[in-house]
Amino acid sequence: MKLHELFGQGRTIFSCEVFPPKKTAPVDSIYQTLDGLKDIRPDFISVTFGAGGSQVNQSTREIASLIENQYHIPAMAHLTCVAAGKEDADRLLAELNEAGVENILALRGDVNPDYPSKTDFKYASELIAYIQKRGDFGISAACYPESHPESPDPVSDIRHLKEKVDAGAQHLISQLFFDNDDFFRFLERARIAGIDTPIEAGVMPVLSKNSILRMVSTCGASIPQKLTRILARYGDHPDALREAGIAYAIDQIADLIAGGVDGIHLYTMNNPDVAKQIAGSIASIRNI
Ligand code: FAD
Repeated sequence: MKLHELFGQGRTIFSCEVFPPKKTAPVDSIYQTLDGLKDIRPDFISVTFGAGGSQVNQSTREIASLIENQYHIPAMAHLTCVAAGKEDADRLLAELNEAGVENILALRGDVNPDYPSKTDFKYASELIAYIQKRGDFGISAACYPESHPESPDPVSDIRHLKEKVDAGAQHLISQLFFDNDDFFRFLERARIAGIDTPIEAGVMPVLSKNSILRMVSTCGASIPQKLTRILARYGDHPDALREAGIAYAIDQIADLIAGGVDGIHLYTMNNPDVAKQIAGSIASIRNI
């Protein structure tokens, strides 16, 4: 099933993101993550693509195939064009096709100094157009409620987002954000610009002060007053921060759903217990 077909049926879509286990982690740790996630029956699970190119990223394909064929949950494989040129993309797409994985999140990615960048595609829109020509994949793309950090202004960011949709992206997933007003303002700009694909809101529960500060420094998300107070008070108390972070995410999601968002994409950080707690708390409100 192409993921965009899930939308528009009167309920809020709920999806999860996982990443392939780090080289230092046991490979089967992904089973623990997926075993936990299967209990909450997300509408789909996406699998990130690392910086190391297609050979290293075989695990993205393998995990996506596992989700699709063993867990029977629709899977979406991420693919970045800084790490994959045309040949890599051709090979990965053929393998995904063979594995029955029908959905791709087509991205540019960020340059990683440890790996040489591929140069066949400059922007995600070019990769999207390339995949679109094959005709056999559902294509999703990334969007940025607070604009992409390299964008000179929100207008050019929306213009380039529209190019991705015109190139063939049928569904968008947002970068994480902590202030829903940023998302709702972005949504309005996107709709005014004629972007009418489903747009899922990316939500990341705050579980660790350091990791969230690292994350926002790379992706450019801002931290509102309410979250600053939480980090200041509970930042050095992991259990308290975990409770407050989950409560913050649930509050954010309830407000997004009340505001009519198409879907929630939960950045699970491979933590199924947190995902379960959040999914359990929003089970009824998702269906109204
Ligand atoms: P693009 O859409 O190409 O945009 C990049 C920048 O170029 C933007 O500033 C845009 O405005 C600008 N731009 C676009 N077109 C033009 C043009 N024609 N002329 C001038 N400027 C232009 N990274 C990973 O490495 N692996 C992952 O698995 C991964 N998953 C992600 C999932 C989500 C939901 C999100 C939101 C991000 C993810 N990322 C991932 C991070 C992403 O790769 C980075 O944010 C990256 O910097 C931009 O990727 P993009 O696909 O949005 O790029």
